[in-house]
Amino acid sequence: MVESIYTIPLTDALDQDCDCMFCYLEDKLEGEQIEYALGAAMMEPDFRILSNEKGYCRHHIGMMARAKSALPLALILDTRCDEVINQLKAVDFSAKGGLFKKEKSPAEKLSEVVTKLDSTCLVCERIEHTMEKFANTFWYLYGKEPEFKKRFLESRGVCIHHFAKLMNALLNVSGSKRDEFVRELYDLQMKVLENEKCEVQGFTKQFDYRSDKGEWKVARDAHLNCAARLSGSFERE
Ligand SMILES: [Zn+2]
Ligand SMILES: [Zn+2]
Repeated sequence: MVESIYTIPLTDALDQDCDCMFCYLEDKLEGEQIEYALGAAMMEPDFRILSNEKGYCRHHIGMMARAKSALPLALILDTRCDEVINQLKAVDFSAKGGLFKKEKSPAEKLSEVVTKLDSTCLVCERIEHTMEKFANTFWYLYGKEPEFKKRFLESRGVCIHHFAKLMNALLNVSGSKRDEFVRELYDLQMKVLENEKCEVQGFTKQFDYRSDKGEWKVARDAHLNCAARLSGSFERE
């Protein structure tokens, strides 16, 4: 069952004519999640439980800090601190481990707890879940809607990060169409990558006193476009 909550944003993202429609979707989703976490979600007990349990990664806590909502952020951190302290208090230091006991040492236990505390992020998890739905819906539309497929194949493709996500989702697609789809995506991606490579090379030539400047007319931010192509979009100055 394909839901319009995924098909409509995908079609909208394709309309944006950007360098990666999935980066566009992910950036939008990320902004909405940060706004939600500091806004409406503050009053939702279910969300607060998850927020306390998972916490936020460095990247997302940075975005929350820059959102300048000091009180909501402090309230979120206050109850997350309780959870962190409780988990640390639960570490049992009395266990010695022994010849016949396979019990973990205090250092192993503490290492496990701290590593887990550091590895979860509620925003990352929510984004990942929705982006997976988008990737699956993408292939559904690609197979069913000739216009969607045509416009995607005329677009500038996706970044390498989302290329990987699309390939993972394609593995769920059964049927003979899969081989056709993979070839089409591959050809598009190779075309855009080779073009990006020419652009960034042209950019470096502009700094070479031996080269004819007029010959290398490329965008002022060609290096940044190439970086986003290889690693996904990022905030630019
Ligand atoms: Zn991307
Ligand atoms: Zn995160």
